[in-house]
Amino acid sequence: MDDILAEALAAAAPHRAAGKVADYIPALAKVDPSKLGIAFADKGGRVWGAGDCDEPFSIQSISKVFTLALALDRVGAKLWERVGREPSGSAFNSIVQLESERGKPRNPLINPGAMVVTDQLIGDRPGEAAIADLLALLRAQARDESVTVDEEVAHSEAATGARNRALAWFMKSFGMLSNDVETVVEAYFRQCSVAMSCRQLARAGLFLAFDGRDPESGVEVTAWHRARRINSVMMLCGHYDNSGEFAFRVGLPGKSGVGGGILAIAPGHGSIAVWSPALNASGTSAAGAAALEALVERTGWSVFF
Ligand code: GLN
Repeated sequence: MDDILAEALAAAAPHRAAGKVADYIPALAKVDPSKLGIAFADKGGRVWGAGDCDEPFSIQSISKVFTLALALDRVGAKLWERVGREPSGSAFNSIVQLESERGKPRNPLINPGAMVVTDQLIGDRPGEAAIADLLALLRAQARDESVTVDEEVAHSEAATGARNRALAWFMKSFGMLSNDVETVVEAYFRQCSVAMSCRQLARAGLFLAFDGRDPESGVEVTAWHRARRINSVMMLCGHYDNSGEFAFRVGLPGKSGVGGGILAIAPGHGSIAVWSPALNASGTSAAGAAALEALVERTGWSVFF
């Protein structure tokens, strides 16, 4: 595995030049674009890593996968009354479909869909309860109590989040949000601002590769049918208007974040996290996708195998 990870990083390294670091969130613009890390967690819970695999980065939209799991456990299938599960074919912060589809976001992984999920996870509790749930899940599954919110990134997002507020107000006008807009967006900005390393993230996502169970302890994190459905949504919607390209090249359920991380799930094998901050036009890490492509080529872990 050490060799495979080193080879994947070597194949990916030249692709760093093909991307651009997210700069619409000022705190993210400062990250060094040459960073490149990868980690793999296996069914025994063992974690391998290479490159910058121990350096925490902003997980951003990767958090949407975990809040989805938590919200489904909290409210069940009624979540789907407020959010769909079809690919959007649009950017993560697009507003166009929301009008024609009466405020119901296409899927839980675009920004408006994730805000609906966060609103449902909050329920009738204070907004911070959703973040407490998220951190508890991430810390338990990463086996690391140090996982936390990067307050500088959270502040930066909140200070510049006009577009996300617009999306939230738009949905509010259609009755899709139960809580106040500011409560929902504040929680959403904080979930996106959680910082984790590749090693922590790979370990945290492991339950999705094993039908919802932490394969090391055998404890059920989410029901098997939910894990399968979360993976299906990741496969079809995890990279916005780049989801088809990612499925074509990598063939694994995955979720990108504009911090440059990607979480990919190899069902029955394990969970992979990559990080490289330079993004393609759809907000997916350019080198990160290339590393996963190289890893799957070598291991044969594509779900289409
Ligand atoms: N926090 C970011 C935003 O809302 C998340 C986007 C992403 O990672 N694709 O714009």
